Order: sequence, then C-alpha cells, then structure tokens
Amino acid sequence: MTSANLYELLAAGFPADRTKPCFLMSDGAAISYGALEAGAAQVAGRLIALGVEPGDRVALQAEKSAAAVMVYLGVLKAAAVFLPLNAAYTGPEIDYFKADAEPRIFITDPPAFVAEANGAQPLDLAVPRAAADLAAIIYTSGTTGRSKGAMLSHGALAANAISLHATWGFSADDVLLHALPIFHVHGLFVALHCAFLSGAPMVWLPKFADAEVLSGLAKATVMMGVPTFYTRLLANPGFTREAAAHMRLFISGSAPLLPSTFAEFEDRTGQRILERYGMSEAVIITSNPLDGDRIAGSVGYPLPGVELRVGGGEETGVIEIRGPSVFSGYWRNPEKTREEFTDDGFFVTGDVGHRDPDGRVWISGRAKDLIISGGYNVYPREVELVLDELAGVVESAVIGVPHPDFGEGVVAVVIGAAEEAALIAAARAQLAAYKAPKQVVFVDELPRNAMGKVQKALLRERYAALFATPR
Ligand code: AMP
Repeated sequence: MTSANLYELLAAGFPADRTKPCFLMSDGAAISYGALEAGAAQVAGRLIALGVEPGDRVALQAEKSAAAVMVYLGVLKAAAVFLPLNAAYTGPEIDYFKADAEPRIFITDPPAFVAEANGAQPLDLAVPRAAADLAAIIYTSGTTGRSKGAMLSHGALAANAISLHATWGFSADDVLLHALPIFHVHGLFVALHCAFLSGAPMVWLPKFADAEVLSGLAKATVMMGVPTFYTRLLANPGFTREAAAHMRLFISGSAPLLPSTFAEFEDRTGQRILERYGMSEAVIITSNPLDGDRIAGSVGYPLPGVELRVGGGEETGVIEIRGPSVFSGYWRNPEKTREEFTDDGFFVTGDVGHRDPDGRVWISGRAKDLIISGGYNVYPREVELVLDELAGVVESAVIGVPHPDFGEGVVAVVIGAAEEAALIAAARAQLAAYKAPKQVVFVDELPRNAMGKVQKALLRERYAALFATPR
C-alpha cells in the first residue's frame, strides 16, 4: 500500500530547485523550500526521539513564524496529529484543550524547538499513513458552548488541497500574500497547502498591517483574507488600482463579505473579490468561479466532489454537505458527531442558506442565530443585507433579544450615521414587517473574533434587556 501521508503530497509540490524561496520576509530575507524541508525533517526526528508515536497529539500554541510551519510539517511527517491553538487562549482555556486532547508534546516556542531539533537525527521518509488516519484536530472557534475538536484526516486535507489548487488556478508563478493566523484552517490549510502544491513563495507577514500588506501586494499575485482585510485596505487611500495591479486574485472567506465591500473593491481596483465558504469541519466547501462570474453575496458553487443540499424540505434551510474533505467526527465526542450527521452521511453545517436556480449557494446566517419573532422565522443575514445598502449604514449586525410580546425582538446593531426611524422605515419598505428591526442601536465597532466573525452571542448578551423596559 502506498502511503497517504499528507506531508508527501505537499513535499511533492515543492520546487525541484530547493534553493527557491518559500517565505519572503518583510526585511528582505528569505527562507528557502530546502530550509523548510530540512526543518520539518529535524522536527520529525526530534519528535520521534522524544517518544512520539503515530496518532499522538502534538499541540502548538505560539505566534506565527516560519518555524511554526516547520513544526506543522514535522508533525505530519512523524505521523503525529497536529493540534494548533490560538495564541490568545488563556490558561483555563488551554487547560480544557490539554485535558480533552491529551497532547503528548506541547510546543510554545517553535524557533527554540526547531533549534533544539537541529541536533536530532532527521527523518528522511515520512511515516506511512492511510488516508483515514488523523492529521489534525481543529478546535472550532465555538462562540457558544464548549469547543469541539474536529478531526481531519490526511485524506480529507489532501483532497481539499488538490481541489483548491486546481479551482483557483495556482501555479509556480504565483506568490501568495499570507497575513492570516496559522492556528485556523484558513491560514493553515487553505493558504499553506495552495502555496506548497505550487512550490510558490509566500510574502510572509506575522499579521495584517497596512504598510506591509501594501508593499507585499507589489510582489504577490494572490491574497487570501478575511473580509476585514478588505475593508481595511479600502480605508487606506494608498490602496489604489496601481497598488493592486500586480495581483491576479483576491480571495475572501471565514465570514460574509459585504456586497458593498465587493462593489467598492471593484470600483477601486477593477478586480472582483472571489468569495468562498468553508469551516473547520470541511475546510473549503464552495467557491465562486475563477473564470466565470463572481457574484457579490453568493459563496459560489460546491467544489467538485462536494454534494450540498438544503435540509428540511424548504427553499431556505440548514445546509448539509457530504464529500471527500468532510471531517471524521468530533474528537472523543461520538454523541455530538451522531447529532451533526444525517443517517445518509451528510454533515449538518448549522449554516442557513439556499441555492438559486443556477446552483449558486447563498448563506443567510447560522441556525443558532435564527430569530423567532412572533412565531415567524427571521434570518438575520437577509435583514443585514437590506440595511447595509441603506444610506448612512457602514455595516449592521442583526440579532434577536427577549421581547415581552414577540418572544424575540429584532434588533439591528449598526455602524454608521443615520436616523433610527428612517432605517426602520426603509427596512419595512423592502421586508415583511416582522423582519424589520424594532430597534436600532448605533455603535462605533462590532465585536469580532480573530477570524473577523461578528460575535453575535456577545451582542445578544449586551442587549438582552433592551425590550425589558419600555423606552
Ligand atoms: P470556522 O470553523 O471557524 O472556520 O467557522 C466556519 C463558519 O464561518 C461557517 O460555518 C460559516 O458560518 C462562516 N463562514 C465561513 N465563510 C463564510 C462566507 N464566505 N460567508 C458566510 N459565512 C462564512
């Protein structure tokens, strides 16, 4: 049996000339593919010397660095299971992950670990793996309840990497601007795997910073970002058509891209952002086309091999998926796994949406964000899309909070300068009355997590008493 170790697939994409750069650093220095490969071999050798066996978890909680990527690849090569953790997690949060995943090794200083691994006997050949063997556990950002560990196999990650590499037309001529964190599937799997399979260099930025991104765009051809990257670029007058002229592709995901951002971006640069949809449990599920029309507000078509349907027999409902990149279940949580898969093997994503006659997928929100007001279902995204188009509104987040008459009342939390009454009236003109906000709250900023997702649970908490006392 040939091995399905993901490391072998990724390394097969490395350039034949290993002196070629993999990481282009802001100070002009570069780290070659040869150095990455050597680092991964040393790390794998060191892990094995430390007694790590196939299937053992190796956790990494650290700031982004090239050394952290060496650790990731070394873990794969040694057939251990990679467990990345957000550097921002606090002690009690880490205690939970440690107790749940029981990592054999916990790395917090990748450069030091790689330096220490220098003395180890490098592992030349990846430890063989079957496609179904686990490659990584990704704890879902879970804004409510306890985080669950999504188990991703070597085969699932390989299938998604191959699919994205082709779908987005990656080649050795590309240079990927990488400003995402690498504790999350977006920066870790989606971005890195596309670069590796192409043997392409990456403009390697520790985080999104305007000046570095702007100078990086002059060297890069593709950028992957969360929507906030794009709004931040647009807020910078230095981001012009010329500044984007070297780029062939801007990709957005992890949170909904506002149609207004899409439009403003096209006005400014002449380029249409390609929006895609994914999640920790399946990496990427749908994408707008590289060559066909990219439509604002839609997340595009299911990737080849992905079956996608709307559950519940209604036109709009919870999206269910089945396909080669879908995860193998939640770590040590068979009940939760059973709950979230249908009898015929579809994963119930929890995202609410519909498909148009063309087959394009549109996401209208999360099932748990669904508002039930006076017995009627209100999908927040539908209301947000209307509000976001109104004069004076920069962005909105629509939530439901307890209401004495309706059970839940629709509330719009809005960034912008507008009149509450005018917004409500304009929403009523376009939506059924029960969907229109009963109240609008103006704020300077919406709370977001590291991936740019608006933290609705936090908003619901903050405004829980809004209707408790009449105004
Ligand atoms: P995570 O597991 O942290 O990557 O979060 C996955 C969730 O992010 C999905 O279930 C969606 O709710 C949301 N998401 C990702 N991409 C998009 C997108 N393009 N549009 C809307 N929601 C998205």
